[in-house]
Amino acid sequence: MPSRFDLGPKPRLGYVDSLIDRAAAFRADKGAMERHADDPKSGYYVVGGELIVTRRHGEHGEPLFARADAEALGEPHERVFLGFCGGLAQFGLAIAADVAEALKARDDLLVTDLRSIAVQGLVDSVHLAPLAEAKALLLWHARHRFCSVCGSASRVADGGWRRDCPACGAQHFPRTDPCVIMLAVKGERCLLGRSPRFGAGMWSCLAGFVEPGESVEDAVRRETMEEAGVVCGQVAYFRSQPWPFPMSLMIGCHAEALTDSITMDESELDGARWFERGEVAAMLARRHPDGLYTPPPSAIAHHIIRAFVDGEAPGF
Ligand SMILES: [Zn+2]
Repeated sequence: MPSRFDLGPKPRLGYVDSLIDRAAAFRADKGAMERHADDPKSGYYVVGGELIVTRRHGEHGEPLFARADAEALGEPHERVFLGFCGGLAQFGLAIAADVAEALKARDDLLVTDLRSIAVQGLVDSVHLAPLAEAKALLLWHARHRFCSVCGSASRVADGGWRRDCPACGAQHFPRTDPCVIMLAVKGERCLLGRSPRFGAGMWSCLAGFVEPGESVEDAVRRETMEEAGVVCGQVAYFRSQPWPFPMSLMIGCHAEALTDSITMDESELDGARWFERGEVAAMLARRHPDGLYTPPPSAIAHHIIRAFVDGEAPGF
């Protein structure tokens, strides 16, 4: 059904549609990996904690460096193979967070966090997916230096896609934490909440981690009940988004609300209420009379809400 609201073309979601061939079968070939790592045509994304280092071109940044230039920015802590893009190998390189922070002082560099890069469009959008891949994987290494079975120091293997324990032989693989993010819908209304961390006026979908032994559908129903006291029935998958803060996968859903009275969890939210379709259309377009707004198009919440406004969410 065509939208009754003039919101223009659909914007692009951040961190998705990667152009990288991850070439997983290639990771174990150490010799070839080193040759590609040394190839001056190979590209390196440089990550220091939450910060991404780019070369400044006016207000924008070019995030790919040649190996020598990347390593000159700071002592490399870890290198991971991201895959091939256009036939050229790409790697992620971690430097210390305080070294990256100090690089902010250089006029030739643009050093900022990945959220700002995505929201403000500071790099060409094709770089967002590999930057998310590099940041999530490098952060996993930074937080998993020891074997979780026996406590010994573990070693990087498979181009950065595994850590092996030399003491007990356990193999450890990078984690992705699944997180549901959902819009409960009841007729012409949808349920939005406000986290105390949000800027004044921003409202978004409810969200929470999927727990062990739980389906996506059950997690959607549980989180909506816990945070807002609303009972949900059917759940429909919408789309997903890697969310490298630090290493989540956002699983976007619409949910059929069966009740409408709200009991808000005040330890998680400082607002939860129903919004009419026309009101959220104004919030997406940043034309709400009270200045209320939704998250930016780089975040999946924007697209989940937009699908409801456009009449593309299931009617259940
Ligand atoms: Zn071990």
